Amino acid sequence: MVRRTMSYALVALSLPLRQSFTYRVPEALEAEARPGAMVEVPLRGRSVRGVVLARVRSSERADAQALTRVLSPPLLSPHLLELTRWVADYYLAPIGEVVAAALPGGGKGLAASRARRGAREDAVLRMALPERVTLSPAQRDAVREVEQAVRAAAFAPMLLHGVTASGKTEVYLRGALTAREAGGQTLVLVPEVALASQVVARFRQRFGGRVGLLHSYLGVGERRRNWELARRGALDVVVGARSAVFAPLPDLRLIVVDEEHEPAYKQSEQLRYHGRDVAVRRAQMLGVPVVLGSATPSLESLANAARGRYRHIQLPERIDRRPMPSVQVVDLRREDAALLSRPLRAAIAARLERGEQSLLWLNRRGHTHHLQCHACGWSPACPDCDITLTLHVDPLALRCHYCDHRAPAHSRCPQCEAGLQLRQSGAGTQRVERELARTLPAARVLRLDADISRDRAAPADVLERFSRGEADVLLGTQMIAKGLDFPDVTLVGVLDADVALHLPDFRAAERTWQLLVQVAGRAGRGRAPGEVLVQTCTPEHAAIAAFASGDTPAFQRQELAERRDAEYPPFVRLATLLVSGTDAALVEQAAVALGEHTRAAAAPLGVRVLGPAPQALARLRGRHRWHLLLKAPQARPLREAAAAALEWADRSRTLGRVRVMADIDPIEVL
Ligand code: ADP
Ligand code: ZN
Ligand code: ZN
Repeated sequence: MVRRTMSYALVALSLPLRQSFTYRVPEALEAEARPGAMVEVPLRGRSVRGVVLARVRSSERADAQALTRVLSPPLLSPHLLELTRWVADYYLAPIGEVVAAALPGGGKGLAASRARRGAREDAVLRMALPERVTLSPAQRDAVREVEQAVRAAAFAPMLLHGVTASGKTEVYLRGALTAREAGGQTLVLVPEVALASQVVARFRQRFGGRVGLLHSYLGVGERRRNWELARRGALDVVVGARSAVFAPLPDLRLIVVDEEHEPAYKQSEQLRYHGRDVAVRRAQMLGVPVVLGSATPSLESLANAARGRYRHIQLPERIDRRPMPSVQVVDLRREDAALLSRPLRAAIAARLERGEQSLLWLNRRGHTHHLQCHACGWSPACPDCDITLTLHVDPLALRCHYCDHRAPAHSRCPQCEAGLQLRQSGAGTQRVERELARTLPAARVLRLDADISRDRAAPADVLERFSRGEADVLLGTQMIAKGLDFPDVTLVGVLDADVALHLPDFRAAERTWQLLVQVAGRAGRGRAPGEVLVQTCTPEHAAIAAFASGDTPAFQRQELAERRDAEYPPFVRLATLLVSGTDAALVEQAAVALGEHTRAAAAPLGVRVLGPAPQALARLRGRHRWHLLLKAPQARPLREAAAAALEWADRSRTLGRVRVMADIDPIEVL
């Protein structure tokens, strides 16, 4: 083995490869090729972009090729490089993809970006408004704990468990002010882009212009500009969705994860990291506090609090002791109108009369989800996914909600040509919008769902118009279910509580209960009391019954008992191995072979392997999908087994054109 003392660089290439590559650093680039810098390197005769992870003095790779060019000064700090390496390692993910996630727009064009290099703070900073807010007693205790933790500048994970409208945001604000007093910054993560603008507005009221947004809906120029301002320390607070967990902040003193229970924090494609868990890890690396806030904490976080790993801070009451909304369950089996039942229509009409606002929540967009021929049973399906198409009316088309395949809408069955109307069930938001126009023509309705938000500015615009009172009813999907603070909303209508209940996922009941509590929490946040109407066909289901009775501890005890019996988190750790490809037979073969090898690797580690089995959505975008489920009491052996399986898959010829990836701590096991 030849060991030369020269200078080398470990480089993360922007390719889907789990390993990093070693390159020789020519003398001329010695000074510039620092860790965090973007470089150009040769790979199999091509020129590839990458980021220097580290410099090393010696290498066993005597034949290492030389870097070609250095494209930028260091873009990632040593801390962020360490964090990206941790993420790649923990999630068994390609390091280049993690580095790309940490840079705005994946880093493309960033080195030469004018928006980045010319980033200036706003010439006239909006003045901060010191608000006179008298904290509630519970808020005062919470604020004291958070402030002390920020001043102590040590790792301190805290679960801020406060009912809806208990004033959690005020606690975050005070923590951020303390961080600023110490000359540092605060990072605030929110689960959804639509929420970010409302949170930013509240922080700007207090901090003025030194508050920035970072998320993927921003135009690339603005994202680079904010990213650069953050990196220079010109922002006191950065608010953003999942990928903002990598925001470059030179003196980060506090991390806040709002709505910590939200599954949206877990990226469910490509790089499968959990924004909340990475935030906790980042706080630990930096030695700073992290506040996880929620009215409905995940069972995992509650378990961490119960074990004493997280400090449990509670805000048990709403601000000004405003009452929690009253809950009425409407049994749809006894109603003739399944979309807008009589009690719901009456409740909306009463709000119209009093000049109050209503929120209607339905977790299904489009017009109709199930179209079926009465005569032969035909229903339209996506050619590339195992899922039926949804009818949309504006514009008129059948669309796949996974791959957005579009087909012309039929009014008659194309298979049997029976002159019958297709039977419609599973109404979506567009259908409800029409139904509202028909039954309550006086109501001014705004709709907010993924179809609206394709237009980047639209969600913030819709929310702002609603908050200005330009509409009586806001109708929407999960985008309106959480976090929003509209004091004039006194009615929340849940149009179909059963949507998420029957998914074959172990978190289905927890998720349904959380969504109900969250959406109900939007009612009665102002002076007038709130009311919630829940339409369901299964009022007896534990999640719905618990929500109606308000007996949260009983529900959690029962959920935990079931999880313990069935060996699911928080009692065990999970990983899945996902096998996919375009050839059904090859995918099955590969999954079976992978299963055998994984079992062999897992057994001595004490890791259980279930499957392989086809995923619930067995075909997506033309790819067939199988999976294996791994369970273990601890994360380390679990990841070792998964890593061994991936390594075998990388080497294995039998796998051919089949892709294998891991999902560590999966949020859905479907
Ligand atoms: P949460 O995040 O817990 O749902 P918010 O932080 O949105 O609650 O607070 C709910 C409402 O109460 C907001 O309109 C907020 O401005 C207001 N609020 C918060 N704390 C106080 C306080 N101490 N006094 C008066 N109003 C408050
Ligand atoms: Zn037919
Ligand atoms: Zn499709």
